[in-house]
This record gives sequence, C-alpha cells and structure tokens, in this order.
Amino acid sequence: MTTGAAGRRAVPRRVAKVETFIVTLPRDTPYLGPLGPDESVNPRGYIVRKGNGTIYPTVDRSIAVRVTLDDGSEGWGETYGICAPRATCEIINDLLAPVLLGHDPEEVEAIWDELYGLMRVRGCGGGFHGDALAALDIALWDLRARGRGLPLAALLSSEAPRPVPGYLSGLPAATLAERVEMARAWQRQGIDAFKFAAVVSHEGIAEEFAALRVALGSDADIMVDLHWKFDAASAHALASRLAPYKPRFLEAPVKPELVGELAAVCRSWPGLIAAGEEWYTEYEAALRLPAAPLAYVQPEMGHTGITQFRRIAALAGRYGALVAPHATIGTGIFLAASLHVSSTLPNLWKHEWQHSVFARNLALLDTDMGCERGVYRLPGGPGLGVKPGAAFWEHARLVA
Ligand code: MG
Repeated sequence: MTTGAAGRRAVPRRVAKVETFIVTLPRDTPYLGPLGPDESVNPRGYIVRKGNGTIYPTVDRSIAVRVTLDDGSEGWGETYGICAPRATCEIINDLLAPVLLGHDPEEVEAIWDELYGLMRVRGCGGGFHGDALAALDIALWDLRARGRGLPLAALLSSEAPRPVPGYLSGLPAATLAERVEMARAWQRQGIDAFKFAAVVSHEGIAEEFAALRVALGSDADIMVDLHWKFDAASAHALASRLAPYKPRFLEAPVKPELVGELAAVCRSWPGLIAAGEEWYTEYEAALRLPAAPLAYVQPEMGHTGITQFRRIAALAGRYGALVAPHATIGTGIFLAASLHVSSTLPNLWKHEWQHSVFARNLALLDTDMGCERGVYRLPGGPGLGVKPGAAFWEHARLVA
C-alpha cells in the first residue's frame, strides 16, 4: 500500500463505477405484524397501516450500491428500498454517480457536502435524495477503511470499540397475549430491553404497556414507538397514563413537522422522549435539539450514511442526549456501518435490534456479524466487515 504519514494514500484512487441493486426478500408476516382491522394489501404490494397512515411493503426490500475504484477495489453501501426503490436508484444512476466519478474516497465528507448541495435549492434535503447519498457515503467509507486494511471502527477511532448492546424491537404477533408471550420467551433467553409498536397495539397502547410491565417485571427496559401518531396534548395525556409503568422512553410521539410540539412534549417529560429516525442530516438535528431536549436521539444509518450519522451523534452529545440508533430492515450492510460507528460513540445507549429479520438476513452476507443475548458482535475484517454472499445474488437485481 502506498500511504503517507497519516495513513493516507500518496496516489489517489478514483471512483470508476457505481452500480445499484434492488434486493427483495419475501416474508411470512408483514413488517409490524399481521394485518389489522380494515387493513389490506394493495395491487402494488403495499399496506397502509391504519394506526399511523404510513405505507409499508409486504416484502423486505433494500437498495445496495457497489462503488468500484480505478484500482479495482470495491466498497458497498445500502439504503432504504422499501417504497418506490427505483426512484432512489434513478437518483444515484442519473444524478449522483456521474458527479461522483473521478472523486477520491478519502474526501468522503466533502463529497457528501458536494452531492447534497447539488439539489439543496430544490428542496431535496432528505427523502429519496438523502437515501441515495447515504448509500454512496457508506460505500466510500467502506473503501477508505478497506484501503488501509482496517475495520471501519478502527478508522474512526483510535480507542478500542465499545460494546454495542441491542434492544429487542417489535413483537410481531396478532394478539396482545401472543405479544406478551413473545417478549417473555425472549426474556428467558437473556434479553432485558423491549420496544413495541403502538401502530399495531390494537388492544390499546396503555393496556399493552401495562401487560408487558406485569409480565416482564420491574427491571426490564420497556419502550413504545408511538410512530408520530399524536399532537402534543394527546401525547402528554398518553405519557401521563404510561408513566406509572416506568417507560425507558417514548419514541416519536408527534408528527415530524411539529417541532414546537415535540419541544413541548420533551419539556414536559424530561428524560423520556426519543426521536430522530426520520432525520437525514445534521441540519434537521440542529433545528430540533436546541428547542426539544430529547433524552435519546435515534439516527438511522440507511438515511444518514456514516458522515451524517456521526455529525448527528456529535450534536446529540452536545445537547446531552444519548444515542439509540434506529435499525430498519435491510440486508445488513447499513446495519454493519451503524454498529461500527455506534462502537465509537461515547454517548451510545443501545442499538435497535430487529430480531424478526436480523438472523435471517445475515445469510445474505459473508460476515461474522451477530447478536447474542442482546449484545451485538461487530463484524470483523476490513471496512464494514460485510460483503454480499451467494444468497444475496439470488435476491438482487441490477438497476441500470
Ligand atoms: Mg421507530
């Protein structure tokens, strides 16, 4: 390897090729659980959840990106592909990749800023454009670390990686009794932190919280994802009902646009509110954190990429918030990135663990990443420590 004193290559390597892939996996039970009352699958394979009016696919779907350098090195990134995935692929292929060609991955942070700026004045501060940026950003960081033969965590920090505990997310069963039993079964396997989804609390949110507290005991951490369902007044009323059951946090109580209402809920319930999975950038974090004293900030690597994830986590620290990274459904590429970065954060609490798909989707990758008794195992090897394996290619389709 030809490197300078700081480990930087003396001869720059340049991006030569960018490819996008849609990866689709069938699943038996829709994400968040079986269909609820008045919910159905539309002709394109989507469900609109009545609980929060949000659309979800009935398959697991993700977008993987391969960036190849002029020396033949490959880096991998990933982003959301759950809805209209070809839109994100088109943004990468038509808009971003041609600008990225010829850039040196060592400049990844400046590249993010440049590519973000391409569409800044057109209102593309996130959404599909942000997802496209995230996938490329992760691949460029993967290339940087692989170029040095280092795991990503070691590139980011000279300190030993910190443990990354996980919390169990989601109880995808049809009835409250079945969800409680599912949580108890995990507890018997050593899990001590649980989050359920209010969108599918068909028997009532407070009723589900109470049943879980009784079943899991006073030591368990229990959280509820409120999926942006409420305004400040109704979120306040619900928090009052849940307080006796000692929630660790209440997630996403109000609609993302209602910054003032989020701030009001945070001020009423200090230490209790979590939010941030839908943020893409430090700019969104900076608009909210000064007014809304969140206890937990939840960056999602599939939206933020590594560059913005780190900047958001740093801002969270500045405002006294812990980081509890969000984990959406993917092949595991962006999850690997999220675990590496999380292991470097002084203000990490626990990382979300999508137990219903995590182990299954690991079969797609060549990796030793894992999660045992509620603690993640960081993938070893250089870069992200993950690469698509044979099973990945059975489910992946190149998007030209
Ligand atoms: Mg959530």
